[in-house]
Amino acid sequence: MFWFLILAGLLVLYVGVILRLQSRYPEPNWDWDQIDLDDLNFPPDFLWGSATAAHQVEGGNDNNNWSRWEKQVDAKGCPRVHEGVPCGRAVEHWERYPEDIALMRDTLHLQSYRFSVEWSRIEPSPGVYDEVAIAHYHDVIDRLIAAGIAPMVTLHHFTNPLWFEDIGAFEKEENLKHFVRFATRMFQEYGDKVPRWCTINESGPYSVMGYGLGVFPPGVKNYQRMAHVLHHLMLAHVQVYDAIKAMPGGDQVEVGLVKNIFQFDPYRRWNLLHWILCRNMESAYNESILGFFRDGVFRIVIPTKARLVSEHPEAVGKADFMGLNYYSNLLISAFMKKEPPFEPNMRTGQVATDMPYAIYAEGFYRAIQQLSTLGKPIIVTENGIADDRDDRRAIWIRRYLYAMSKAMEEGCDVRGYHYWSLLDNFEWAEGYQMRFGLIGVDYETQERQPREGSKAYVDIIQRFSEHA
Ligand code: BGC
Repeated sequence: MFWFLILAGLLVLYVGVILRLQSRYPEPNWDWDQIDLDDLNFPPDFLWGSATAAHQVEGGNDNNNWSRWEKQVDAKGCPRVHEGVPCGRAVEHWERYPEDIALMRDTLHLQSYRFSVEWSRIEPSPGVYDEVAIAHYHDVIDRLIAAGIAPMVTLHHFTNPLWFEDIGAFEKEENLKHFVRFATRMFQEYGDKVPRWCTINESGPYSVMGYGLGVFPPGVKNYQRMAHVLHHLMLAHVQVYDAIKAMPGGDQVEVGLVKNIFQFDPYRRWNLLHWILCRNMESAYNESILGFFRDGVFRIVIPTKARLVSEHPEAVGKADFMGLNYYSNLLISAFMKKEPPFEPNMRTGQVATDMPYAIYAEGFYRAIQQLSTLGKPIIVTENGIADDRDDRRAIWIRRYLYAMSKAMEEGCDVRGYHYWSLLDNFEWAEGYQMRFGLIGVDYETQERQPREGSKAYVDIIQRFSEHA
């Protein structure tokens, strides 16, 4: 009897804890059959755009951490990127950007283009600047402006010049000055033409993939080192923000950080272990960065693996906007694979993208709400689907834009949306197998072909924009 009462008590406690967690952290799954996807509302000055990153589209980048990584194999002899095919010529955006800008203007009716400047081209060795590369991006920016498309520049999108990688990149705090110097130079060049600046793209994936899971360069698997890198990226953001704001014209532009949000939801919502893992991941991956801006405290604690708590009151509110990259949530269970190919947990009835996650627009709505708690305007800097068959792209676009519209109607201040990606491109470790483009590219001929599914986006742009 005694043991029975103890067991019954424990069971009641367990159920109570689980019910509490379930109500505090809901995982909405809407009934899409009951939703009118045309029920959208966007202000006329909403910024409709698309995004790319230099290394993924330009081609000919052979002086950065990725170009070296792509030629390597891991300890088991497996290539670092899909089928060992390196980025190479990519989609020749370096040469073909005039044609691509024409497509943005005439076919897609875009108003904003987010792209990154390739640090390794511009500063091939420390303090030495390549005037041809600088002139190239001037021309890109000038042509965008002439096409009525606002340029949005990302200063760091995953790639480091080899010289920076070889001195320890962002793992060493003393290296941040190199990035700040580069950013300052970029602002001197383009500051009067570029109204929106993203400092760092996705500090989370950069650190986790490169220093935690070891599937991006430099291939480290050490969570403590990962925590340091993430912390330094946050400090780099603040230093670049301050440096730009102190320069002439700095108060005329918007400078923000690009935050990737993945929610971590328990695969089995009755399993306490799944909940514990999720809350821990949520704290290390999302809350570490949100807390940095909100409370001035950077905190990562991963039991037995990493601990870093650091106070930075100077960081509070240091962003004019928060860039949001959102793709999906991750359903966490125990013993998930930490090596590719990653195998996603899925809910019954969910549809997967070609990347290992589900179409989950409800999560976009949640992410916008979560990021809104910082009280800064949000610009969606990436959202889109890898869909080679092009049979899910339109549904993705319509559902995610519905979710964004709903969040905005409920008070979230979202100012713009950039579909990822403008063109098919080199998807990092996944190589060329993932097709994200609004515009498909034939890699043999480099011919561009707008995808059928992209029309869903163009329709919405035309319906809501004052310029299209
Ligand atoms: C990155 C992009 C990438 C995209 C799709 C984001 O994590 O910023 O470079 O291609 O997701 O996976």
